[in-house]
This record gives sequence, structure tokens and C-alpha cells, in this order.
Amino acid sequence: MLDKRFIRDNPDAVKDAVRLKGVDLDVDELLALDQENRKLQFEVDEAQARRKSFAKQFAKADEARRAELRVEHVEFDRQLQDLRERLAQTSARLSELMLLAPGIPWEGAPVGPDESANVVIRTVGTRPEFDFPPLDHTELAEKRGWAEFARARRVAGERAYALVGDMVMLERAVHSYALDLLRERDFTPVAVPALVKEAPLVGTGMFPKGRDEIYEIPADDAFLAGTAEVALVGLHSGEILDAGQLPIRYAGISPCFRREIGSASRDVRGLLRVHQFEKVEQFVLCVNDPAESARWHAELLATAERILTDLGLHYEVVECATGDMGLGKFRMNDINTWFPTLDRFRETHSCSTLHDWQARRANLRYRDSGGNIHFAHTLNNTAVATPRLLAAILENFQTADQQVRVPEVLRPYLGGRALL
Ligand code: AMP
Repeated sequence: MLDKRFIRDNPDAVKDAVRLKGVDLDVDELLALDQENRKLQFEVDEAQARRKSFAKQFAKADEARRAELRVEHVEFDRQLQDLRERLAQTSARLSELMLLAPGIPWEGAPVGPDESANVVIRTVGTRPEFDFPPLDHTELAEKRGWAEFARARRVAGERAYALVGDMVMLERAVHSYALDLLRERDFTPVAVPALVKEAPLVGTGMFPKGRDEIYEIPADDAFLAGTAEVALVGLHSGEILDAGQLPIRYAGISPCFRREIGSASRDVRGLLRVHQFEKVEQFVLCVNDPAESARWHAELLATAERILTDLGLHYEVVECATGDMGLGKFRMNDINTWFPTLDRFRETHSCSTLHDWQARRANLRYRDSGGNIHFAHTLNNTAVATPRLLAAILENFQTADQQVRVPEVLRPYLGGRALL
């Protein structure tokens, strides 16, 4: 969310952001409503003050005047009620529009409507070479009995899978390795609820626009979150932290649920795009200082890159375009990892800085040493998301006899095994 005063003072910057991000919002309508709302609020306040003065007048008045005052009072109450109703209506509409106001994107972001405008800023590592035709991850996993697809679909429908045997151990190894790395960097592991209420989804900006993406459980007034970020922001929503507590660094652990309605027929086979997956998420909450959040952005990105280089995977880092980065983001860098049988990179990580856009929605504040209160900055990046990363490991490190070389950093978590 943006500060209303910022929108009033910088309407052109907000209109630019609306255009650059392709948001369906009429900024002039928002400004007009804001003005109307403030006018109505003033009138309601004034009317309430006058209403109080009625009691005094009534106490001093004689019987004849009291009769008149009673009539005036009824009419006055009717008008006040009318004003209050109009204020409630404009406030509700204004709140709806405020939820659509985009964060102002970084001026260095490529301008474009979607990911086709993203720009590769570096490529790291090399493509693996095979002297045999490599299998795609689905075939390899099925051949080795590491995944059930058809049976899992009978249980859970489209895009369902079950990991089996060594693939389960590999998934645990990937997560344990990532958590150990993050703990070395002073990130506190937090295993968060994936079953959440509506407020944290609004607070993080997943609602209202992304509502279709989220599984809803109406009987319990609850939802299945698509990322640990929802709960991590929610944990501190409504709080005023002490500046001394910042930066807060979490390694959020959670299952993630996504309806994937926008990708109906894409990646229906295998482990790349599923409805339920597991993620370790890097999350930072820091002071409201663009230089400080830029530093954390670089660090979150570097950690994700360290994970991929440790694993020996070939990847590219992308500067995401304004139309791809989403409503609240200031800056977003995706990391795409190489998939040999697809002959292309696929996104495995996404690093985002939101400045105070999310903290304003979630009302997440801190008090500085001078006693002043500010909204915090929030950032997040994937550490590891499986099973997509498992698919990358299978494809890139397979051998001619359909074994998989285990990256060295994972071996301690797999009893020292070098091959699966
Ligand atoms: P996001 O939270 O959308 O930035 O996604 C973070 C990472 O989660 C992506 O880069 C992917 O590695 C993984 N991911 C996202 N959606 C899916 C999905 N439907 N199936 C499998 N992995 C996913």
C-alpha cells in the first residue's frame, strides 16, 4: 500500500507506476474519493461536535424551546446518519482502490508488460555435456521408482505427485543444507502455518488481485498460502517493533499451495509446476531505508546464487520488468536454472524488495531510537523450492546408467553417498 499523502503529492509518479505495471486503477478516481472522504469526515466530526452542544442548549432551554429542539434534534440526527453512511461508503471504496495502488518500481527495472521484457544480467556456470541422450526428469524419476505420478493423480488429481525412496531423502538433504547455510547467516528457521486467514493474505498483497490463485476453505474461513512469506509478514502484523530488533531474518519453512489457474495446460507433466510444493524462504524485515534494503536485496540474491553454485547448477540472473514484478514490488530478480532436456532455463528463485508497501498493508512498524515510528521494509527470496530443484538436480547430474551424481554439499546429509 502507498501512503495517501504520497499519492496526493506525487500523482504522476503513481500514474506512471500504474502504467508501467499494467494495473487496472484510475488514480484520478482514487484522488477524488480521497478528497470526498476527507470532506465527509470533516463534516461528520463537525456534526458530532454540534450534537454534543444540543444537550447543553436543552438543559438551559424552557419548555417551548425544548419542543423545538426535539424536532431539530430528530432532523439533525437524520442528517448525521446520512453523512455517516456516505462516509462509510466512500471509505470502503477508497480502501478497495488503495489496495490496488502499486509500489513505485525501481527506475533501473526494464520497462515492459511481462516477462518477455526481462533482461538477463549474468549467467553463471556452464551447461552440462552428455555423451548419451539425457532423460527428462519425469522419465528418470519413474524409471528409478523415485516418483509416482499416475497413482498420485488418482489420489489428488492433476499435477499431483508422490516422491518415493531416495527422492524423499534428496529433498530432505536439499532443505537441510539450505537451512544450515541460512543459519550460518543468522537467519532463524521458522516453520510457519500454511493454513491462514484472509488478513495476512491482504497484508502481503496476495489479495485481492491474486485471489484466484489461492485455495479457499470456506467452511473454516481459511486459505492455503502459496508461500511462507504470508505467515512471516503476518507474524509481526500490527506490531511496533523496537529498531534494535531489526533486521529480522527468517528462514521460513512451509508447504506451498497454488492453483496455477493461469497456466492451465503448461508443465502438466512432471515436477516443474505442481499444486503443492515445499519451500525454504529467505525473509528480511529491516529499517525503512532504501540503501539498507538494497543491501539486503543483494545479500538475499547472493545467498540464492551461492546455493546454486554449491549445487553445481548452471543459472542466469534476470532483472525483472515492471510488468512482471507484481503490484507491490520495488525490484525483482529471478534466477533461472538450466534444464538440459528442455534446452532452456527455468525459474527456480525469485528475489523481491517491497520497500514499505507490504508493511503499510500489514501495519508492521518499528520505533527508532528517537521514538519515531516507521513502517519497516520487507524482502524475500527463495532459498530452495522443491520438487522443481530436485528435477534440475536429476536432469543435470544424471549418468549414462541412469544414476544421479549427488552434489558434494548434499553428501553429508545422505550418509556420504556420491551416487543415487
Ligand atoms: P514465488 O514464490 O512465486 O516467487 O516462487 C518461488 C519458487 O517456487 C519458484 O522460483 C519455483 O522454484 C517454485 N515454484 C513456484 N510455483 C511452483 C509450482 N507451481 N510448482 C513447483 N514449484 C514452484
